[in-house]
Order: sequence, then structure tokens, then C-alpha cells
Amino acid sequence: MTLSLYDTMARAKRPFVPHDPKRVTMYVCGPTVYNFAHIGNARPVVAFDVLFRLLRFQYGREAVIYAANVTDVDDKINKKAAEEGVPISVITDRYLGIYNADMSVLGALRPTHQPRATQTMDAIVEMIGKLVANGSAYAAEGHVLFNTQSYADYGKLSGHPMEDMIAGARVDVAPYKRHPADFVLWKPSKDNEPVWDSPWGPGRPGWHIECSAMIEQTLGLPIDIHGGGIDLLFPHHENEMAQGVCAHGDHSVGYARYWMHNGFLNMGDEKMSKSLGNVALVRDLLAQAPGEALRWALLVGHYRAPLDWTGDLIAQSKKALDRLYGALRRSSEVVAADTGPNPKFLEALEDDLNTPAAMAELFAMATALETAKGEGRARAKGELLASAHLMGFLSGDPEAWFQAGVTDDLREKVDALIEERIAARAAKDWPAADRIRDALTALNVEVMDGPAGATWRIKE
Ligand code: AMP
Ligand code: ZN
Repeated sequence: MTLSLYDTMARAKRPFVPHDPKRVTMYVCGPTVYNFAHIGNARPVVAFDVLFRLLRFQYGREAVIYAANVTDVDDKINKKAAEEGVPISVITDRYLGIYNADMSVLGALRPTHQPRATQTMDAIVEMIGKLVANGSAYAAEGHVLFNTQSYADYGKLSGHPMEDMIAGARVDVAPYKRHPADFVLWKPSKDNEPVWDSPWGPGRPGWHIECSAMIEQTLGLPIDIHGGGIDLLFPHHENEMAQGVCAHGDHSVGYARYWMHNGFLNMGDEKMSKSLGNVALVRDLLAQAPGEALRWALLVGHYRAPLDWTGDLIAQSKKALDRLYGALRRSSEVVAADTGPNPKFLEALEDDLNTPAAMAELFAMATALETAKGEGRARAKGELLASAHLMGFLSGDPEAWFQAGVTDDLREKVDALIEERIAARAAKDWPAADRIRDALTALNVEVMDGPAGATWRIKE
């Protein structure tokens, strides 16, 4: 079985063939850092993290280069910085730090490169210069615009017909645009906005050019995989590709060999988004559930399908991991064989990242671990661990997983009951000892008496 991926450009699943198997490249559009990330922002991060892990498994760790950008120049960042009366870097450094910490708790590996727009300014200005020089862009009234009429394939990725784009842009078309669909590469900064020098006057870049410049600078064309949320397909990715290809010169090189888009994460029937206000912040969710359970919840649906975010989904995800960690806890004496991931599990992931089918295989392996005999158990445990690790699960200690849900309040209560139980036993007050045991059972706590005293754990 080989990896096949759904390519938005081809509108079909295609076998994955990298440009160079010794250097597999992936780029995913990252966050604008001015606020806490919501769980919808985490969906592409976690989905493409599974792909990153799978590619590393198949091509070797060092062979896969993954870049995800950080937009640190933006109107919303400017607004926040002005509100707090600080330079934009104070805002962007703060929220990038929080973002990286949150994504890491969700089990996402750090991308190989995390380029920032403010640190890519020379490459951005250079790319715009190339576009102007070869007639793909023009300067007008302090702006530089991409000339959409110069690129025959404009609209091919998103499938937007040019007439629709004209209709969509007709309201209030800026007078300096030659064509309504032309878009901004460079614009003058308003008062109090950050500003950079350029041959077209002081100003700042448009959003789309950032990704094209970073891709050329950190990975080079063509890249193998370009990912992001489906909301970015038009205009962002359409524009990114047009600029990237035209600046590169030789159009036959192409831009991205596979375009991948995740579906929306919805809450209350609508896309989760800061502008709608229907957001659940990763930060807040982490106070309710372990990061691993949130990761599980993000992967229970196929990445291209919409995903409804509900409290029930989180509870179910915790239970699913209880089941898997429970199987590991009950087989702590089994030494895992060095098997590698299970073939059926791999087949599921290789089929355009079919994570729900891969999860079903994890359950089957847990069952095998508990029902097999002798060597079979060692193999089942080896396959379960290798498969789960590949997907970013079960790397914790099973005991720690079951303790994680224990609040300080519960811990105090249980410790007090155990003290009372010791006292009751010492006094040979058996009815009292039994009552205390019932109280512990009601709290779903199991007490294990050992030579060093009593220890306890939460039952599954
Ligand atoms: P933003 O910070 O809004 O530019 O988004 C960063 C990334 O998260 C992009 O790849 C978006 O497509 C993605 N994204 C934002 N909101 C959602 C959502 N509700 N569901 C899925 N992906 C989203
Ligand atoms: Zn982008």
C-alpha cells in the first residue's frame, strides 16, 4: 500500500510521489498571533502533524522538511498593540509562545521551520520586485498589485470563474486597480502602523505574498504538499500560487504538487471563528481535558469532513483513551515486541489519512492485547504502541493517565478516607473499615494494599 492524498487541485485522491524522496517538503499556513488559539485553529495543526509523522516514518526523520508560517504583521495585531500601548513584537512574541505551548500539549511536533513575516521582509520585497520586473505586477499610488490577467492559470486551483471574481470585487473597487480581481502585494502603512522601506515607497506587505516568499526561501519550488483550512483556498491559496509561480519565472516548475485542505471545525452549526465569537480556546479546554483527549477529538472525523465540536465529543474521546490506556495498564507485565505499526492501521492512514479507520484498528489491537496468548500478546502490545505513537497517542504512562483526572479536592478526600481506614483497621473496627471502603468505591477509587502501605488509583 502506498500513501495516497486527496489533492484539491486535481479534485481527486492521487498516489503520493514526492519531487525528491530524500527531501520531502510540506508547508502549512499558520496562525496570526494576537490572541489565544481556539480549537478550530488547532485542527489543521493536528491533522498535518499526523501527516508529518507518517511522512517521517516512511521517508526517514531527516528527509521531511515541514514549514509553518507565523503571521506577525496584521491589522488585528496592530490594534491590540495600540490598545496595550506596546510595540507589535510584544504582542506577537507573547501569543506565539502561548500558541507553541498549546500545540505541543496537543501532541503536535514543532515544524522544522517556523518563519515569521517580519523576518522575511527582504525576501518579500525581492519577490515583489521580480513580479514587477516581469510584468506580473504593477505599482500604482503607493501600492503594488498583482496583475491577475498576466497569469493564465489564475482561478484554476479554487475553480472560481473570473466572472465571479469580478462580481465579488465589484463593490468599491480601488481606483488604482487595472482589473477588479487584482490584489495587493504591497500597501502604504497607515499612521502608527509598522512600516518597512521598499522601492515603491514605505509600507507593508499584503498577507498572501508572505507565504509565497517563505515557501521560496525556506523550501524552494516546487514543494510537495501545501496545506491549510478550506477557508484559505480562495483567495489566499489562489493568490499565493499565482505570485509564487510568476516570481519563480519558469511556470513548468509548478508550486505545490499536492494541495490539501482540512474541513471546518464547527460549534453550534457554524464555523468556529474569532469574528463570530463562537470559540472554545485551547487554553480553556486544557483545564477540562488532557491534551491527548483533545487531540483524539480532533482526529475522530476525517480531516476533510466538517467536525462538530461538542462536550460529548470530548467525553467520548476521554473514554476511548481510557479503553486503550486500560488495556496497557492491565498488561503492564507484557514486554512489547519490536513489531512496528500494524499493517491495517498503516493502510488506513495511507488512505488519505483515514484517522477514524486507524482509530478502529487501535481498538482492535487493544482487544488482541487482552485476548491473545503468550507471544501473541507481546506482538499485540508492540503493534498497539508503535501504531499509537505514530499517530501521537499513548506515549504517557498508563497510571499517570488515570491519575490525570484527579482533582486536588478528590485527592484530599481519598487520602483522608485512607487514613481513617488505617485507623479503623488498627482498632479492629471492621464495620467502619467496610463503610470507608464503600465510600471509596463510590468515588470510583480502588485501593491496593502493599508492603509499603496502601496506594490507590481511579478505576476505569
Ligand atoms: P487563522 O489564525 O484564522 O489565520 O487560522 C489559522 C489556520 O487555522 C488556517 O489554516 C485556518 O484555515 C485554520 N482554521 C481557522 N478556523 C478554523 C476552523 N473553525 N476549522 C478548521 N480550520 C480553521
Ligand atoms: Zn498561506
